[in-house]
Amino acid sequence: MNTEKKKKIVILGGGESGVGTAILAQKQGFDVFLSDSGRIKDNYRQALQAKGIRWEDGGHTEGEILSADEVVKSPGVPDAAPIVKKLVEQGIPILSELEFAKRFSRGKTICITGSNGKTTTTTLIYYIMKRDGRDVGLAGNIERSFALQVAEGDHDWYVLEISSFQLDNMFDFKADISVLMNITPDHLDRYEFCLQHYIDSKMRIIQNQDSGQSFVYWRQDEHIEEELRKRFEEGYAPQPTPSSKPARRGRPTLCGFVDSDFERLGLQFSQMGQHNKRNALAAYFATKIAGIDETTIRQCLSDFPGVEHRLERVAEKSGVLYINDSKATNVDACRVALQAMEKPTVLIVGGLDKGNDYSAIAPLVRQKCVGLVYLGADNAKLHSAFDKLGLPIVDTNNMRDCVSACQRMAKAGGAVLLSPCCASFDLFHNMEERGEQFKQLVRELR
Ligand code: ADP
Repeated sequence: MNTEKKKKIVILGGGESGVGTAILAQKQGFDVFLSDSGRIKDNYRQALQAKGIRWEDGGHTEGEILSADEVVKSPGVPDAAPIVKKLVEQGIPILSELEFAKRFSRGKTICITGSNGKTTTTTLIYYIMKRDGRDVGLAGNIERSFALQVAEGDHDWYVLEISSFQLDNMFDFKADISVLMNITPDHLDRYEFCLQHYIDSKMRIIQNQDSGQSFVYWRQDEHIEEELRKRFEEGYAPQPTPSSKPARRGRPTLCGFVDSDFERLGLQFSQMGQHNKRNALAAYFATKIAGIDETTIRQCLSDFPGVEHRLERVAEKSGVLYINDSKATNVDACRVALQAMEKPTVLIVGGLDKGNDYSAIAPLVRQKCVGLVYLGADNAKLHSAFDKLGLPIVDTNNMRDCVSACQRMAKAGGAVLLSPCCASFDLFHNMEERGEQFKQLVRELR
């Protein structure tokens, strides 16, 4: 009889990532316990119950958690959480879902990270791999969790969108092809307000890679080449974050690209904007390295349908093109959207302000816009930032009034762009609902 005690895996967080991990861990024969300090959604509760997995929500039972052999932490649980601090004090290893699930997968991985453009690039790479007939899964921050896909039947390939929070708890994981889009300050509250910590987290995408693996990156980014130089020439070793060990340094085969490669290679991409050309280039190189033929890649770039809520063409009504960019929840995202606009634009801006500095886009608004429609519960800050530009302005606080105002303001040959710079929670449940309402009302326009 096997008397060996089962290894205990505790999972913190009961969302898509945590529940997928619990199901995989149980399938692999571990003693599994899942704990969430908030409320677990009904569909996830049911999934856990159906598998007979032990779980709790609304708090953490320390005795259960601190007796784990390993803990898998969902990306939403911060290092600063008291339970995480206790785990660190006791030296209990904390992993990310991707690190854990990769142990049980035979699949090769293409891993995409960056401050902006992850979802677009990840979806595009998946689109190309699928078209080529590869057995491929799409996971990470999107779709079903990587862990659940591994549990339900493994794939030959995975295209994984990876956030810096996941990277922080990845140690032995090695991407076959890693992609780093860009590094601009984001989420600094989770990195002790230190940009270098955030950069170090993003650079973990190349950890453990050697010459047999590839690193695709944008060479014109302000930080990436300098970080590579520091690591390869000066032996720079980043400080580990509170719950992480240092990453092992390796030297992947480098594949850097610049914007002009798009024209040099004669590529065509279905999506608008300079930033999207970068996303296309990243996908082009990553899939070439994965062995996809050039003709398939080019075909996919030209017919890629795009990703919902990201510069999404909704409809043309009375000669006006309506574009849904509800995902633009910060000023930087709105800036790239405005840069992509080629028609006189009515811009919808507003929502829950996150301490935005709108002055950064004021010159672009002056250059590209013919009118502004404010959409928020409180538009006072927008008035003080943009009224002085002297453009026609309408104040609204619901989507129906907003779309009507846009219809009145826009002229044939122009465009209406929803790219709000702000979070959506003042008037909507989330950015998806904001985008859906916009699209619905636009489609109803005569
Ligand atoms: P992420 O998953 O990293 O948030 P998305 O692909 O969802 O990225 O795009 C989010 C927003 O970021 C888009 O609305 C767009 O305005 C902007 N964006 C997309 N790609 C890039 C890029 N390569 N560089 C800068 N901004 C980008």
